[in-house]
Amino acid sequence: MPNMSLTKNPMPSQDPKVRAHNFNEVATGYTEEMALDEALRCLNCKNMPCSNGCPVNIHIPEFITKIKEGDFEGAYQVINKTSSLPAVCGRVCPQESQCESKCVRGIKGEPVGIGRLERFVADWHNAHSEEAPEVAPSNGHRVAIVGSGPSGLTCAGDLAKKGYKVTVFEALHTAGGVLVYGIPEFRLPKKIVQKEVDNLIAMGVDVETNIVIGKTLTIDELFDQGFEAVFVGSGAGLPNFMGIPGEAYKGVYSANEFLTRSNLMKAYLDDPVTPIMKGGNVAVVGGGNVAMDAARTALRLGAEHVYIVYRRSLEELPARREEVEHAMEEGVDFRLLNNPVEIIGYHNPDDRRDPKNGCVTGMKCIRMELGEPDEKGRRRPIPVEGSEFILDVDTVVIAIGTSPNPLIKSTTKGLEVNKKGGIVVEEGTGKTSRDGVYAGGDAVTGAATVISAMGAGKAAAKAIDEYLSEK
Ligand SMILES: Cc1cc2nc3c(=O)[nH]c(=O)nc-3n(C[C@H](O)[C@H](O)[C@H](O)COP(=O)(O)OP(=O)(O)OC[C@H]3O[C@@H](n4cnc5c(N)ncnc54)[C@H](O)[C@@H]3O)c2cc1C
Repeated sequence: MPNMSLTKNPMPSQDPKVRAHNFNEVATGYTEEMALDEALRCLNCKNMPCSNGCPVNIHIPEFITKIKEGDFEGAYQVINKTSSLPAVCGRVCPQESQCESKCVRGIKGEPVGIGRLERFVADWHNAHSEEAPEVAPSNGHRVAIVGSGPSGLTCAGDLAKKGYKVTVFEALHTAGGVLVYGIPEFRLPKKIVQKEVDNLIAMGVDVETNIVIGKTLTIDELFDQGFEAVFVGSGAGLPNFMGIPGEAYKGVYSANEFLTRSNLMKAYLDDPVTPIMKGGNVAVVGGGNVAMDAARTALRLGAEHVYIVYRRSLEELPARREEVEHAMEEGVDFRLLNNPVEIIGYHNPDDRRDPKNGCVTGMKCIRMELGEPDEKGRRRPIPVEGSEFILDVDTVVIAIGTSPNPLIKSTTKGLEVNKKGGIVVEEGTGKTSRDGVYAGGDAVTGAATVISAMGAGKAAAKAIDEYLSEK
């Protein structure tokens, strides 16, 4: 009998007052009973609209049917046919605008909690499976992957399964891309990503960290070393700034720097090697997922008061609703329809060695109102004359977007990029203007999503296989 409840089984979570001060995962996951009950809400539609909403076309009703049968490993195997990172996607995919947005149960009530079920199945598999991944017999070909984010890891995994000798080159000291340096532990525990990286290593993939392609080695040198194809999955890690006075003061960070220092360099320790803030008030500028992550991280790092400063209203705020709700529950103060115009700093002309010289003391903002829609259909924010005010803050985190880094383009002959710095590729294959070089993920599209990066890595692995099979 289907479960005709109009609402999803709620996700068990840590109490907001407690979790705002720790880095443990906020959502604690479904129990077997909850997963079975939620699976019974699926009507097993023949035309699978949910699967069409998934960028990697997971056979959703099929895996949910396995859950109904209590065959959780079988459910995992269904997902694993098309997605290599289900424990990650079950946690961070924007399901509300993908698979769940197509679910017929969403017409009257809430859609089936597909993401929550995916997470349950992946966690169940990780807790119960001891099987070592299969190592495919070598086909003698070597492929280099630049970057260890979801696009690079997916491409590496698919090629390794076909017998390629794959080496992943990662600029940072830890593999995982944004999954480890950007998305905080309380949303995506690092051990989940590490398990995926360990799996690849067990499949014979070499992961070389602290290697910046374009500096330590160029793509041409990779070909000289015997690699026959290269996949560039270097992401979009170059932060955008606002171009307002005061952005160079001490205490102003890009969200990327702020999150990397917290996530990878453990700035939350009592005696950190890289302190980023000591209490005080923090303003995070921007309204996307990155801004929510930075604001919630600042709370956990001990900020007294955290503001989100966003120039439009709640309706236009681009972050996932769930993340916005979590941030509000934890006490983040949303200053909507406000825009920074200047960051203000401390100056002591009488003592140039005063350590407070050049530190942030506030941020001047102006109130905004919404005018006519812009080319994207979002109402344009217009400053309200004479409405400036000062927000009393000690730290400012700028989270207004990122772009692909120009390093690879500037050091690789014949690699075409577009106006925004994205590598130009053939749709569906990731083939670039340079023979043997493929690209995908944020390096191509600009900042996007984990699942779209994975889809691009998968498509490129297939195209690289076809290219090298013909050689
Ligand atoms: C804070 C934050 C939160 C996010 N939250 C979500 C979310 O909830 N859901 C979602 O779907 N998406 C989210 N995203 C977006 C998502 O994480 C990205 O779209 C995705 O990670 C892109 O994958 P990628 O493989 O293209 O690149 P990345 O994950 O950026 O990985 C690229 C890797 O390449 C390395 N690299 C770069 N240049 C070089 C070089 N020259 N040589 C060697 N290595 C190099 C980088 O160090 C990095 O490790 C978030 C992004 C951020 C920043």
